[in-house]
Amino acid sequence: MSDAILQLDKVRRSYKTAEAPLEVLRGADLTLRPGEMVGLIAPSGAGKSTLLHIAGLLENPTEGKVLVGGQDCSRLDDGGRTAVRRTTIGFVYQFHQLLPEFSALENVILPQMIAGVSRSKAKVRATELLSAVGLGKRLDHRPAKLSGGEQQRVAIVRAIANQPKLLLADEPTGNLDPTTAEGVFKTLQDLVRNAGLAALIATHNLELAGRMDRVVTLKDGILVAA
Ligand code: ADP
Ligand code: MG
Repeated sequence: MSDAILQLDKVRRSYKTAEAPLEVLRGADLTLRPGEMVGLIAPSGAGKSTLLHIAGLLENPTEGKVLVGGQDCSRLDDGGRTAVRRTTIGFVYQFHQLLPEFSALENVILPQMIAGVSRSKAKVRATELLSAVGLGKRLDHRPAKLSGGEQQRVAIVRAIANQPKLLLADEPTGNLDPTTAEGVFKTLQDLVRNAGLAALIATHNLELAGRMDRVVTLKDGILVAA
Protein backbone atom coordinates (compact mmCIF):
# COMPACT_ATOMS: atom_id res chain seq x y z
CA MET A 1 0.00 0.00 0.00
CA SER A 2 2.90 2.34 0.68
CA ASP A 3 3.47 3.12 -2.99
CA ALA A 4 -0.11 4.39 -3.40
CA ILE A 5 -0.38 7.97 -4.60
CA LEU A 6 -3.98 8.29 -3.53
CA GLN A 7 -5.81 6.28 -0.97
CA LEU A 8 -9.42 6.85 0.01
CA ASP A 9 -10.35 4.96 3.13
CA LYS A 10 -14.06 4.68 3.97
CA VAL A 11 -14.71 8.21 2.79
CA ARG A 12 -18.10 9.58 3.72
CA ARG A 13 -19.55 12.93 2.70
CA SER A 14 -22.96 14.26 3.48
CA TYR A 15 -24.51 17.62 2.72
CA LYS A 16 -26.91 19.42 5.01
CA THR A 17 -30.30 19.95 3.45
CA ALA A 18 -33.61 21.30 4.71
CA GLU A 19 -34.72 17.70 5.29
CA ALA A 20 -32.48 14.77 6.28
CA PRO A 21 -28.76 15.13 5.44
CA LEU A 22 -27.95 13.98 1.92
CA GLU A 23 -25.38 11.17 2.19
CA VAL A 24 -23.52 11.27 -1.12
CA LEU A 25 -20.49 9.14 -0.21
CA ARG A 26 -21.04 6.32 2.23
CA GLY A 27 -17.68 4.66 2.66
CA ALA A 28 -15.82 4.99 -0.64
CA ASP A 29 -12.48 3.14 -0.87
CA LEU A 30 -9.92 3.58 -3.64
CA THR A 31 -6.20 3.02 -4.14
CA LEU A 32 -4.37 4.65 -7.05
CA ARG A 33 -0.78 3.75 -7.87
CA PRO A 34 1.76 5.50 -10.13
CA GLY A 35 1.03 5.03 -13.80
CA GLU A 36 -2.55 3.93 -13.24
CA MET A 37 -5.28 5.59 -15.28
CA VAL A 38 -8.70 4.92 -13.80
CA GLY A 39 -12.08 5.93 -15.22
CA LEU A 40 -14.96 6.99 -12.98
CA ILE A 41 -18.35 6.43 -14.54
CA ALA A 42 -21.64 7.06 -12.77
CA PRO A 43 -24.93 8.85 -13.48
CA SER A 44 -25.32 12.58 -12.81
CA GLY A 45 -25.83 13.25 -9.13
CA ALA A 46 -24.08 10.02 -8.05
CA GLY A 47 -21.24 11.92 -6.40
CA LYS A 48 -18.40 11.95 -8.95
CA SER A 49 -17.56 15.63 -8.48
CA THR A 50 -17.82 15.29 -4.70
CA LEU A 51 -15.39 12.36 -4.79
CA LEU A 52 -12.93 14.20 -7.04
CA HIS A 53 -13.08 17.35 -4.89
CA ILE A 54 -12.28 15.29 -1.80
CA ALA A 55 -9.51 13.35 -3.58
CA GLY A 56 -8.15 16.68 -4.88
CA LEU A 57 -8.14 18.22 -1.39
CA LEU A 58 -10.62 20.87 -2.46
CA GLU A 59 -12.82 19.81 0.44
CA ASN A 60 -12.67 17.46 3.41
CA PRO A 61 -14.68 14.29 3.88
CA THR A 62 -17.23 14.15 6.70
CA GLU A 63 -15.61 10.89 7.81
CA GLY A 64 -12.85 8.61 6.56
CA LYS A 65 -9.33 9.24 5.37
CA VAL A 66 -7.69 10.72 2.30
CA LEU A 67 -4.01 9.87 1.94
CA VAL A 68 -1.97 11.60 -0.73
CA GLY A 69 1.51 10.15 -1.19
CA GLY A 70 1.03 8.36 2.13
CA GLN A 71 0.22 11.57 4.05
CA ASP A 72 -3.12 11.76 5.81
CA CYS A 73 -4.70 14.94 4.46
CA SER A 74 -8.26 14.39 5.64
CA ARG A 75 -8.10 16.81 8.56
CA LEU A 76 -5.85 19.51 7.14
CA ASP A 77 -7.10 23.08 7.13
CA ASP A 78 -7.42 25.10 3.90
CA GLY A 79 -3.79 26.20 3.97
CA GLY A 80 -2.48 22.70 4.55
CA ARG A 81 -4.59 21.25 1.77
CA THR A 82 -3.55 23.99 -0.62
CA ALA A 83 0.14 23.31 0.05
CA VAL A 84 -0.20 19.59 -0.76
CA ARG A 85 -2.42 20.34 -3.75
CA ARG A 86 0.06 22.77 -5.29
CA THR A 87 2.94 20.32 -5.30
CA THR A 88 1.21 17.00 -5.85
CA ILE A 89 -2.15 17.30 -7.59
CA GLY A 90 -3.36 18.59 -10.94
CA PHE A 91 -7.06 19.17 -11.56
CA VAL A 92 -8.93 19.49 -14.86
CA TYR A 93 -12.52 20.73 -14.78
CA GLN A 94 -15.32 20.18 -17.28
CA PHE A 95 -15.30 23.89 -18.09
CA HIS A 96 -11.70 24.92 -18.46
CA GLN A 97 -11.62 27.54 -15.66
CA LEU A 98 -8.74 29.34 -17.36
CA LEU A 99 -8.10 32.96 -16.37
CA PRO A 100 -9.93 34.91 -19.10
CA GLU A 101 -7.70 38.00 -18.99
CA PHE A 102 -4.52 36.03 -19.54
CA SER A 103 -3.04 34.33 -22.59
CA ALA A 104 -2.70 30.56 -22.90
CA LEU A 105 1.00 30.95 -22.11
CA GLU A 106 0.35 33.06 -18.99
CA ASN A 107 -2.27 30.58 -17.79
CA VAL A 108 0.44 27.92 -17.74
CA ILE A 109 3.21 30.21 -16.41
CA LEU A 110 1.28 31.55 -13.40
CA PRO A 111 0.71 28.33 -11.44
CA GLN A 112 4.40 27.51 -11.81
CA MET A 113 5.40 30.91 -10.43
CA ILE A 114 2.98 30.47 -7.52
CA ALA A 115 4.84 27.21 -6.81
CA GLY A 116 8.13 29.11 -6.72
CA VAL A 117 9.50 28.59 -10.25
CA SER A 118 11.21 31.61 -11.84
CA ARG A 119 9.32 33.39 -14.60
CA SER A 120 11.92 32.55 -17.23
CA LYS A 121 11.95 28.84 -16.40
CA ALA A 122 8.15 28.75 -16.19
CA LYS A 123 7.93 30.36 -19.62
CA VAL A 124 10.25 27.81 -21.20
CA ARG A 125 8.28 24.92 -19.74
CA ALA A 126 4.90 26.45 -20.64
CA THR A 127 6.05 26.99 -24.23
CA GLU A 128 7.33 23.43 -24.52
CA LEU A 129 4.20 21.88 -23.05
CA LEU A 130 1.79 23.94 -25.13
CA SER A 131 3.79 23.27 -28.29
CA ALA A 132 3.77 19.54 -27.53
CA VAL A 133 -0.04 19.54 -27.56
CA GLY A 134 -0.23 21.45 -30.83
CA LEU A 135 -0.72 24.93 -29.39
CA GLY A 136 2.64 26.41 -30.35
CA LYS A 137 0.88 28.97 -32.54
CA ARG A 138 -1.73 29.84 -29.93
CA LEU A 139 0.53 30.90 -27.05
CA ASP A 140 -0.62 34.51 -27.00
CA HIS A 141 -4.32 33.82 -27.45
CA ARG A 142 -6.70 34.47 -24.59
CA PRO A 143 -9.08 31.59 -23.75
CA ALA A 144 -12.02 33.25 -25.53
CA LYS A 145 -10.06 33.16 -28.80
CA LEU A 146 -9.46 29.40 -28.55
CA SER A 147 -11.77 26.55 -29.54
CA GLY A 148 -13.28 24.32 -26.82
CA GLY A 149 -10.76 21.60 -27.51
CA GLU A 150 -7.86 24.06 -27.43
CA GLN A 151 -9.12 25.50 -24.14
CA GLN A 152 -9.17 22.04 -22.59
CA ARG A 153 -5.66 21.31 -23.88
CA VAL A 154 -4.44 24.46 -22.14
CA ALA A 155 -6.28 23.41 -18.98
CA ILE A 156 -4.65 19.96 -19.11
CA VAL A 157 -1.20 21.42 -19.65
CA ARG A 158 -1.79 23.87 -16.79
CA ALA A 159 -2.78 20.96 -14.55
CA ILE A 160 0.46 19.09 -15.18
CA ALA A 161 2.78 22.12 -15.35
CA ASN A 162 3.98 21.65 -11.77
CA GLN A 163 4.71 17.96 -12.34
CA PRO A 164 2.03 16.59 -10.03
CA LYS A 165 1.94 12.93 -9.11
CA LEU A 166 -1.84 12.73 -9.31
CA LEU A 167 -4.12 14.07 -12.02
CA LEU A 168 -7.84 14.38 -11.40
CA ALA A 169 -10.21 15.27 -14.19
CA ASP A 170 -13.94 15.95 -13.84
CA GLU A 171 -15.60 15.18 -17.18
CA PRO A 172 -12.76 16.83 -19.11
CA THR A 173 -14.38 16.10 -22.47
CA GLY A 174 -17.99 16.50 -21.35
CA ASN A 175 -18.38 19.83 -23.08
CA LEU A 176 -16.89 18.76 -26.43
CA ASP A 177 -18.15 17.13 -29.62
CA PRO A 178 -17.06 13.48 -30.09
CA THR A 179 -14.18 14.15 -32.50
CA THR A 180 -12.74 16.94 -30.35
CA ALA A 181 -13.28 14.82 -27.23
CA GLU A 182 -11.25 12.04 -28.82
CA GLY A 183 -8.35 14.39 -29.56
CA VAL A 184 -8.39 15.92 -26.08
CA PHE A 185 -8.53 12.49 -24.47
CA LYS A 186 -5.55 11.38 -26.53
CA THR A 187 -3.62 14.45 -25.34
CA LEU A 188 -4.53 13.68 -21.75
CA GLN A 189 -3.60 10.02 -22.11
CA ASP A 190 -0.22 10.77 -23.72
CA LEU A 191 0.73 13.30 -21.03
CA VAL A 192 -0.36 10.98 -18.21
CA ARG A 193 1.53 8.03 -19.71
CA ASN A 194 4.69 9.99 -20.44
CA ALA A 195 4.81 11.45 -16.94
CA GLY A 196 3.92 8.14 -15.24
CA LEU A 197 1.10 9.92 -13.39
CA ALA A 198 -1.77 8.35 -11.56
CA ALA A 199 -5.02 9.67 -12.98
CA LEU A 200 -8.67 9.47 -11.99
CA ILE A 201 -10.96 10.68 -14.73
CA ALA A 202 -14.72 11.06 -14.44
CA THR A 203 -16.40 10.70 -17.80
CA HIS A 204 -19.75 9.93 -19.40
CA ASN A 205 -17.94 8.57 -22.42
CA LEU A 206 -17.97 4.77 -22.18
CA GLU A 207 -15.71 4.37 -25.18
CA LEU A 208 -12.99 6.53 -23.61
CA ALA A 209 -13.43 4.90 -20.20
CA GLY A 210 -12.89 1.50 -21.84
CA ARG A 211 -9.41 2.60 -22.89
CA MET A 212 -8.27 3.24 -19.32
CA ASP A 213 -6.60 0.65 -17.08
CA ARG A 214 -9.75 0.06 -15.09
CA VAL A 215 -13.12 1.64 -14.51
CA VAL A 216 -14.95 2.22 -11.25
CA THR A 217 -18.47 3.41 -10.57
CA LEU A 218 -20.35 4.85 -7.60
CA LYS A 219 -23.14 2.67 -6.33
CA ASP A 220 -25.06 3.97 -3.32
CA GLY A 221 -22.08 6.06 -2.32
CA ILE A 222 -19.52 3.28 -2.58
CA LEU A 223 -16.91 2.72 -5.28
CA VAL A 224 -17.16 -0.60 -7.08
CA ALA A 225 -15.45 -2.00 -10.19
CA ALA A 226 -17.50 -1.27 -13.31
P1 ADP B 1 -22.01 14.12 -10.00
O1 ADP B 1 -20.73 14.86 -10.20
O2 ADP B 1 -21.87 12.63 -10.09
O3 ADP B 1 -23.09 14.61 -10.91
P2 ADP B 1 -22.12 15.56 -7.46
O4 ADP B 1 -20.97 15.09 -6.65
O5 ADP B 1 -21.99 16.86 -8.13
O6 ADP B 1 -22.52 14.40 -8.50
O7 ADP B 1 -23.40 15.62 -6.56
C1 ADP B 1 -23.87 14.51 -5.79
C2 ADP B 1 -25.12 14.92 -5.01
O8 ADP B 1 -24.74 15.85 -3.99
C3 ADP B 1 -26.17 15.61 -5.83
O9 ADP B 1 -27.42 15.21 -5.37
C4 ADP B 1 -25.92 17.09 -5.57
O10 ADP B 1 -27.10 17.83 -5.71
C5 ADP B 1 -25.45 17.07 -4.13
N1 ADP B 1 -24.52 18.15 -3.82
C6 ADP B 1 -23.32 18.37 -4.40
N2 ADP B 1 -22.71 19.43 -3.86
C7 ADP B 1 -23.54 19.91 -2.88
C8 ADP B 1 -23.48 20.98 -1.92
N3 ADP B 1 -22.42 21.79 -1.88
N4 ADP B 1 -24.52 21.14 -1.09
C9 ADP B 1 -25.59 20.31 -1.12
N5 ADP B 1 -25.71 19.28 -1.99
C10 ADP B 1 -24.70 19.07 -2.86
MG1 MG C 1 -20.14 16.27 -11.58
